Amino acid sequence: LVGSQAMDRSVDSVCPFCGVGCLVTWQVRGEKIVGVQGRDGPANEGRLCVKGRFGFDYIHHPDRLTAPLVRKPGVPKRMPEPGADWRDTFREASWDEALALAAGGLLQLRSAHGPKALAGFGSAKGSNEEAYLFQKLVRIGFGSNNVDHCTRLCHASSVAALLEGVGSGAVSNPVRDVEFSDLIFVIGSNPTSNHPVAATWMKNAAQRGAKIVLADPRITDLGAHAWRTLQFRADSDVALLNALLHAVIDEGLVNEAFVRERVEGFDELRAHLAAFSPEAMAPICGIAAPLLREVARAFASAKNAMILWGMGVSQHVHGTDNVRCLIALAAITGQIGRPGTGLHPLRGQNNVQGASDAGLIPMMLPNYQRVDDPGALAWFENFWGQPLDGEPGYTVVEILHKALAPDADPHKIRGMYIMGENPAMSDPDLNHARHALGSLSHLVVQDIFLTETAWLADVVLPASSWMEKTGTASNTDRMVQLGRPAVAPPGDARADLWILQQMAAGMGLDWHYPGDESGVAAVYEEMRLAMHGAIAGITWDRLLCEGSVTYPCLSLEDPGQPIVFRERFPTASGRVRLVPAGLVPGDEQPDADYPLVLITGRQLEHWHTGSMTRRSEVLDAIEPVATASMNAAEMARLGLVAGGRARIASRRGSVELMLRRDDGTPDGTVFLPFAYREAAANLLTNSALDPFGKIPEFKYCAVRVAKA
Ligand code: SF4
Repeated sequence: LVGSQAMDRSVDSVCPFCGVGCLVTWQVRGEKIVGVQGRDGPANEGRLCVKGRFGFDYIHHPDRLTAPLVRKPGVPKRMPEPGADWRDTFREASWDEALALAAGGLLQLRSAHGPKALAGFGSAKGSNEEAYLFQKLVRIGFGSNNVDHCTRLCHASSVAALLEGVGSGAVSNPVRDVEFSDLIFVIGSNPTSNHPVAATWMKNAAQRGAKIVLADPRITDLGAHAWRTLQFRADSDVALLNALLHAVIDEGLVNEAFVRERVEGFDELRAHLAAFSPEAMAPICGIAAPLLREVARAFASAKNAMILWGMGVSQHVHGTDNVRCLIALAAITGQIGRPGTGLHPLRGQNNVQGASDAGLIPMMLPNYQRVDDPGALAWFENFWGQPLDGEPGYTVVEILHKALAPDADPHKIRGMYIMGENPAMSDPDLNHARHALGSLSHLVVQDIFLTETAWLADVVLPASSWMEKTGTASNTDRMVQLGRPAVAPPGDARADLWILQQMAAGMGLDWHYPGDESGVAAVYEEMRLAMHGAIAGITWDRLLCEGSVTYPCLSLEDPGQPIVFRERFPTASGRVRLVPAGLVPGDEQPDADYPLVLITGRQLEHWHTGSMTRRSEVLDAIEPVATASMNAAEMARLGLVAGGRARIASRRGSVELMLRRDDGTPDGTVFLPFAYREAAANLLTNSALDPFGKIPEFKYCAVRVAKA
C-alpha cells in the first residue's frame, strides 16, 4: 500500500504493461488505487515486477485529459516547446461538438477523396474488444484496410515468418515451459528489463541446472545467469544462426525422424547452408567457431530446448530472415511440439497478441484471415452485412509516408483516427513522422494524456485507462484474460468502447452495443464468432468464472492448449516449411561521418513512449532522466565520461542527453531507450523496412557521438 492509506475494496484484473500478462489485485480507496498485489495467475503466480507493483498511479496524474479538446483556428501543428500551455493550442468542447467535428472531418474527406484517403491506428494497450471494434470501424466505416497498430513496430517480421513457416503467428509454448527445458536459447531479448517476470522463470530454470544461452550484441543482466553468452556483432544475426544450423547438420545432429515426418524444404536448406560453416561465419558474427559448434551441439542434443526472442531479432530489415533461421533451428533438431521446447516471440505490450488476433492489421481480418482471400472476405462480408475492400491496406510507416504523398496520388492519406498510440514518439525518423502527422487535413486522437501525437490533433477525445474499464487482453502465452475496472474515468473522460461507438454513429454506422458491461460482452461474443477457429470455447461467461483461458480452445470442455504443434503444423501440408535466409546487410552502415551503430530499446522502469511510466511517481524517481549507454573503452576513445552529456546525431536528427557506462554495450555501439520525449531516440532511427513484415530497422543505424 502507498503510505498508510487503507483500502476499502479490491478488484481483480491484469497488469497494464507488458505481454507477460501478470494477474493483479488493485487495492482501492474511494476513487484511488492505493496498492497492488500479484495474483495467482498462470503467467505470474503472484510475482510482479517494479512496473506492475509501483506503476499504477499514472492514472491519477493531473495531466489526465478530462474533457474533449478542439484545436483553435490557425494554431500551427507542431511539437510544443517545453512548458507550453495546452490552452494556447486547444479549447475544451462538449462531447457532442467534439464528436461531430471528429467524425464529420473524416466523413468529409471520405466524400471528397474516397475511402483510401483515411487510415486508423488502434492500440495494443487497449482491450481485445476495442481492437476488434476499431478495425471493424475502419473496414466498414472508412471503407479500406488502412488499419494497423504497434505490432508493426515490434513483431511483424516474427509473425510473417511464423505464418509462412509454421502456419500460426503466435507462440508454440508458454514462457513457463522453460521449467521443462534443459537449454533455453534467448536471442535479441533483454527479458530482465522488458519481460521481468518471464525472466524470473528463466533464472529459476538456470538455478535448477538448465543451460541459458544468451545471444545478443548487448550483454544484459540475464548474462549473469547464462551458461554461454554469444555477443555477436549487431546486424550479423543470420550469419550466427546459419552457422549454428550448419554445425547441427555438419555434426550429424539432425533429428532425422522429425525432419522426415514433419518438415519440408530440408534438402534446399542443407544445400544453402553449405556456405555458412561456423569457420566461415566467425569473422562476420564475431563468435569463435568452436563456441558456435559447442552451442549448436548443446541445443541439438538437449532433451528439451526452447527458443525465446525479442525485438533484437525482429526490428531489422532482415527480421523475417532472422526468424526463418530460428524456425529452422527448432525444426531440424525436433525441438518443438513438446513441453520445454518450441518458439516463443516475447510479445511487448499487454495486448499486442490480442490486437493482432482481432484483425488490427492491414492485410488480415480477425483470426489472420487474409483480406485478399476471396473466401475469407465473403465470410466477413456476410458476417458484418457490409461490402469490404479486398486490397491489403498500408502499414504504420507506409501510412505516414502516404500522408506526405503528392495531392495527385489517389492513395494519399489525408485523415486519421488514432486510438491510444503515439507515433509522434514511437515511429522511426520522427522529424518525418511528425511532419506527416502535422500535414494531415484532419487528425483525431483518442488517449488518456495529451501525448506528442495528440498535440498534432484537430480533435482530442479523452479516453479511459486500463484500470477504468472492463475488457480482455491476450498475453504472450495466448492466454485471454479478463480486466475489471477499479475506478471511474476522471472528469468527462469516457470508456473507449463508448467513444468508438459514437465515432461509428458519426460515420453513418448503425451499431447498437449496450453502453454498460453487457456491451463489452456483446462485442467479445461477436469477436468470438469471428475467431471461431481459435477462441470458440472461451465464452464471456467462462471468462467471468475462470479469468484466464488459453487458446486454441474450441469447445466449452476444451481446457485450452498451451502447447501446440504436437502432431502437425497448421500449414497446408501439415509440415513446417523451411525457408533459407541469406545475408542482407543493415540498411545504413557506419561510415566516416557516422561511425557508430545505434541500438534502441527499453528500460526496466519505463514503458514504450513513456506517456504512462514517466507519470508514475516511483518509476520516474528511479529513472528520471534520459541516458545513452556506452562501454568505458568507447567513451574513453571519444573523450567522454559517464555522467557527462553527449550529442548523438544521425542523418535524420540529433539528441542531447547524459551518458551512462554499460560495459555490456559493445565497442562501436551506443544504446538509447526510446521513452524520453526530451531526447527522443526515434529522431535518429531509420525508417527502412523489412520487405515481408514491413517493420522498421530500429535496431541498427549509423550515428556519431560527441561531447555536448
Ligand atoms: Fe506487468 Fe510485465 Fe511486470 Fe508482469 S512482468 S508485472 S505484466 S510489466
